[in-house]
Amino acid sequence: MDQPHALLVASPGLGHLIPILELGNRLSSVLKIHVTILAVTSGSSPIETEAIRAAVARGTCEVRELPSIDIDHSPDATVPTKIIEMMRATKTKTAVQDAVKSMNRKPTVMIVDIFGTGLMSIADDFGVNATYVYVPSHAWFLAVVVYTPVLDRVVEGEYTDIKEPMKIPGCRPVGPDELMETMLDRSNPQYRECMRSSGPTEKADNILEWLDKQPDKSVVFVCLGSGGTLSLEQTMELAYGLDLSGQRFLWVLRRPTSYLGASSSDDGQVSACLPEGFLDGTRGVGLVVTQWAPQVEILSHGSIGGFLSHCGWSSVLESLTKGVPIVAWPLYAEQWMNATLLTEDIGVAVRTSELPSKRVIGREEVATLVRKIMVEEDEEGQKVRAKAEEVRASSERAWAQGGSSYRSLFEWAKQCRLVS
Ligand code: UDP
Repeated sequence: MDQPHALLVASPGLGHLIPILELGNRLSSVLKIHVTILAVTSGSSPIETEAIRAAVARGTCEVRELPSIDIDHSPDATVPTKIIEMMRATKTKTAVQDAVKSMNRKPTVMIVDIFGTGLMSIADDFGVNATYVYVPSHAWFLAVVVYTPVLDRVVEGEYTDIKEPMKIPGCRPVGPDELMETMLDRSNPQYRECMRSSGPTEKADNILEWLDKQPDKSVVFVCLGSGGTLSLEQTMELAYGLDLSGQRFLWVLRRPTSYLGASSSDDGQVSACLPEGFLDGTRGVGLVVTQWAPQVEILSHGSIGGFLSHCGWSSVLESLTKGVPIVAWPLYAEQWMNATLLTEDIGVAVRTSELPSKRVIGREEVATLVRKIMVEEDEEGQKVRAKAEEVRASSERAWAQGGSSYRSLFEWAKQCRLVS
């Protein structure tokens, strides 16, 4: 096992630097683990320099100040916007990458503060096991930040024009006069900058933008649930198979495991577990994202024509309620049963000739299955697509008022006297 090594990245400004220095000190002195702190500073604050000097003198963590970033901010940029711009600058990313490259001990966990979410992809590049965002504030603030992308979609006009406080799941509502200044004018580019710093949002935006450019029902979505992984050999075959199928694809790729005897990619870089030249060769027709993607939004997008899924039940429901046919690729738990149900009873899926966990599914078979649900005009292909559409329509009826699912819910609620 790798020696634990926590890499912390601090944003400029004492309100960000000091909590990260304190966190680093705590991790090192309590957990006795190696901690490196990379401090991105404004370059013009003697107090920042002094805080770093004091942390270095304390000696519990390795603290490195990165070269300061000189940016031409617009004259009306607020302090948060300036910090976001500095953290997002290519020079900052390069400086962090260079610092990680030069480390003798590979980081095993990366912690960025809320303005450093744009740097999280570096963790993937260097095979860091886990990435976290450290928010040195209260849960209410965090909930508002995380919920901002939803507010952005549902609220019309300016937040300040809203009479009632806005509901935030799990927390007290937030009133317009309590909002951060960056949220007060939605037409201001600073608001967009702030939205982008809500972490996953940026990745989701990129994916959805990419899907917007693809023709209707032309993309197969490949995602194996919240934890599904494949061996290196199987990952390679899947990649070749997607390419061979000639179909567009969006693939949520996880670092391969070593089960089925293949070894994991030692350098941890995701591209290293794909065939050489795969990413370049499929650019434009394929998009590979790592770890996580907004599955429900993706399956709801008109460009999605099929889903290669591990058949976790939530994934199945999310796919079928959108009328998306499935290539069943069961991996664990009750997914074998689900795959049988979907292929043999309901007829909305095609499946591999043998269980994918028992042998490596070759590229030709992958390509055939993908083509079957996406484009094949043979009887099976047509039937599966038509059935998926039929199930979508019937699921809509079941959920609607008076539908079977709706009525069952009420019958149950009556039995336990929740309604009369
Ligand atoms: N999911 C997601 N993005 C991913 C992977 C998974 O949003 O990249 C969601 C998916 O929409 C589903 C859940 O995670 O709601 C996975 O549940 P499921 O029952 O399908 O499989 P499990 O992960 O429990 O095996």
